[in-house]
Amino acid sequence: MIKEKTVGKKNLQPYKRFVTAKDWKKISLLAKNLQGKKIIHINATPLGGGVVEILKSLVPLEQGLNLNAKWYHLEPDKHLFQITKKLHNSLQGQRVSLSKAEKDYYLKINFKIAKAIAKLKPDILIVHDPQPLAIMNYLSGIKAIARIHIDLSTPNKDSQQLLLKSLNNYQEMVFTSKKYAPKKFKTKIFVSPPGIDPLTDKNRNLDIARAKKICSDFGIDINKPVLLQVSRFDPWKDPGGVIDAFRVIKETYSKAQLVLCGVIEAQDDPEAAQIFQSVLEKVGNDKNIILLASPKDLKGYSMDLAVNALRTCADVIFQKSIREGFGLVVTEAMWKQKAVIGGNAEGIRLQITNGKNGFIIKTPKEAAEKALLLLHDKQLQKKMGKLAHQTVQKKFLIPRLLLDELEIMNKLFIRQVTHTSLTPPVLS
Ligand code: UDP
Repeated sequence: MIKEKTVGKKNLQPYKRFVTAKDWKKISLLAKNLQGKKIIHINATPLGGGVVEILKSLVPLEQGLNLNAKWYHLEPDKHLFQITKKLHNSLQGQRVSLSKAEKDYYLKINFKIAKAIAKLKPDILIVHDPQPLAIMNYLSGIKAIARIHIDLSTPNKDSQQLLLKSLNNYQEMVFTSKKYAPKKFKTKIFVSPPGIDPLTDKNRNLDIARAKKICSDFGIDINKPVLLQVSRFDPWKDPGGVIDAFRVIKETYSKAQLVLCGVIEAQDDPEAAQIFQSVLEKVGNDKNIILLASPKDLKGYSMDLAVNALRTCADVIFQKSIREGFGLVVTEAMWKQKAVIGGNAEGIRLQITNGKNGFIIKTPKEAAEKALLLLHDKQLQKKMGKLAHQTVQKKFLIPRLLLDELEIMNKLFIRQVTHTSLTPPVLS
């Protein structure tokens, strides 16, 4: 039902330069209070997407603080992931509803996950995805935190009800933005946007010659303009809109290339293959569009190194999302000193100040206009890219996220909770 994802400890010392002296002290003090507590993080899948990206660094850093932190994910269940993708989409505003049978299946699986969690006897449970969010319907006596990464501001009411029932059972709720929280919880939540790890192979500085060699191996001509979007093939990421923008850009830069990188890894994303198919049809026989969609397209390079090289060489980076809880891809690209052209979604607006450290656009035509502006003006690219990097340095690096999480965990121990027990599901 659930499986542990083992990760190696990360030494915190190299991160000291990204943290103020005051925060550095706070991190070790807060960690001290949590020594000996069993902390369990649970999410949907071990591979792919922003939540995995965060846990890959956060859990090892907590272990580096000598905390007993562990990461569990769900065993792949095709039917559950089809239901939860529908749940995810409907929570983000798509007009789909779960049938009674689908809701029952979701709750039944959550009961089974709850049983597995109860056996682990955690002191603190942090649930990072909607897939296992209903486990707290069946567990009591565990101090639990719901970490909500998605934008819940325009949900389908039916799906929202399902979620609200579960959220009631959590002591603490963490949202990326206050705007995302359901009204009744607005005053109770903790706001903490995600952050990236500056020291991973994806985000560290990469030698330009090496980056160019990797891009050439992907069939990119680095002497011609390179436009890029790195994102799962997902309707919310609007790959089709990026292709439309590219077609406008090509009228001026006929040799420009567009790279769409969305290597399909996440097991909880049954839609990806279908969206990729529609992208293939839209690309047709345009040789200037390069698609990196399967692990073998990476020619033996690791995902992190490949993405780093693409961003290092890109002249323009898009993130044309329609809805975005946050969009770590934007943060990562900004950290690489790039002015990102992002869709008008709250998660992107949290990061980009239009016209300063990037651009916020609504239509493919606007995306093309801003891309042309950047392609014509290298100085502007540089200036905005520098400001983008500073924004991430100030607000969106992982030590800040670690500090937030330690604070929330400490908060849990202000209230008293009794023993762990399990309540069987009452299916609707
Ligand atoms: N990502 C990647 N390779 C890809 C596509 C995405 O490594 O081909 C990574 C990306 O760098 C980021 C994460 O997956 O770290 C996506 O997180 P984000 O918050 O942007 O979006 P999500 O996929 O969670 O909606």
